[in-house]
Amino acid sequence: RDWEPPPSNITADHLLDGLLTADFSFESCRSRYEFAGYHKKSSHKPSPYLIAKLRKQEALQKRCGPGTTTYENAVRRLDSGEGVGGDDGCRYLVYISYRGLGNRMLAITSSFLYAVLTERVLLVDGGRDAGELFCEPFPGTTWLLQLAGAGWFSPLRSLQGYLGGSKQSLGNMLQSGGPVSVSADGNVSWSAPRPPTYLYVHLAGRYGFHDSLFFCGAHQRLLGEVPWLFLWTDNYIVPGLFLTPPFRGELEAMFPEKDAVFYHLGHYLFHPANPVWHAVTRYYWSNLAGAARRVGVQIRVFQKNQPPQAVLDQLLSCVRGEGLLQETTTVAANGTSSSDTAVLVTSLSSWYYERLRDEYGGGVHQPSHEGRQRWHDAAHDMRALSEMVLLSMCDELVTSGYSTFGYVAQGLAGLRPWVMTRAPMWADDWTEGLDPREPCPRAISVEPCFHSPSAYDCAAGRDVELDKVTPYIRHCVDVKWGIKLV
Ligand code: GDP
Repeated sequence: RDWEPPPSNITADHLLDGLLTADFSFESCRSRYEFAGYHKKSSHKPSPYLIAKLRKQEALQKRCGPGTTTYENAVRRLDSGEGVGGDDGCRYLVYISYRGLGNRMLAITSSFLYAVLTERVLLVDGGRDAGELFCEPFPGTTWLLQLAGAGWFSPLRSLQGYLGGSKQSLGNMLQSGGPVSVSADGNVSWSAPRPPTYLYVHLAGRYGFHDSLFFCGAHQRLLGEVPWLFLWTDNYIVPGLFLTPPFRGELEAMFPEKDAVFYHLGHYLFHPANPVWHAVTRYYWSNLAGAARRVGVQIRVFQKNQPPQAVLDQLLSCVRGEGLLQETTTVAANGTSSSDTAVLVTSLSSWYYERLRDEYGGGVHQPSHEGRQRWHDAAHDMRALSEMVLLSMCDELVTSGYSTFGYVAQGLAGLRPWVMTRAPMWADDWTEGLDPREPCPRAISVEPCFHSPSAYDCAAGRDVELDKVTPYIRHCVDVKWGIKLV
């Protein structure tokens, strides 16, 4: 079986229990309604409240998005700096494309959730290849930023130039005492006659203290008055949104199961476009479908001086120690022989695949070995997306710590992976913090890790221990200062 006829009627299963709208045709995006068939049925159900919020967001995207007069007027006001315009109630959040595909998918998910919470239209900077990789998530409109109508000096045209240096950023404005007044009780408001037309929010890498005030309730009220926000982040900031007081109640209502935020939003947003989906399903049926069990192994090496043999040793000690793969091809304790198991290896290098194949034989597969990470290369990104999706079709996952590529795979799969720990990327010594007795602790939840949270409690005016604030936020096993929903 390598091709299925379109489902004759779309059922609740195809629509992921109401998460997806039925407003798209099957042919326009096969993965949207076929995806469920390749994944185990999950116990995670989207809440009725989440579903209602998604339908409301779809209506907003259609009413205010590209192609409408409202959008054209909003772009014109942005260019002329006229500020808040008519009473159409349309405000925008532009996600600025940045870094590798895994980072981008986590950042888009975060931007989307922030847009839903603040009732903004999400627009994705399509300067890269988002349009070739993914189907449109919102019916009757596009989520790709459209420049038609924008002037040559429009802020929309200089997105990649922001890089944290923009004077028009929240952090710079707060630091340099921009048109903002702070009252004795900590409230902040615009002191200028009207709020700026746009503001840039910098939450990339290890952003500064003033940027981190984004996670304060008072500053959120300030941002709410700005018609256009530009967000530059490579992070999964969702746990930070749960820590932002005005959003907490709303998020708890949308996600009664806190550990399924990316699972639901990832399944809502990321439908591989037909050519990517075709490659995924063809590979699946040729190499993985016949096995009783599929083990996915994602190898990502950040430290240039880390010897490949050490990575392989860590992997073997992990898969054997955890009983995922046996030492030889004899029958395993649970009665399945290794030949019933398909192993899917993803890595930029083919070396690990070759060693595993020497050891385990023909059940080991690697779809591609790209050698190195590439930029502005749609074919390369399409292979990366295919592999994240193929990993998500496995029954068990071993991932590499710190890697957002692995987070996306585990999140779409709904699996808690075994995480091969890594030294921090900036460590000179690749062995820093590694414990050979524990090569791959199990992730405490399916959720991605937020690598650089802000520990500052705005109301208290001091830093707090982030894993003590609520029972559903804990530190990650791979990034010790990172936090995740559990
Ligand atoms: P991270 O750097 O591991 O957090 O993940 P990102 O996805 O943000 O960036 C890494 C990029 O390198 C990916 O998007 C791919 O372009 C490439 N890459 C890394 N590992 C793999 C892999 O196993 N397979 C493929 N096809 N590409 C990979």
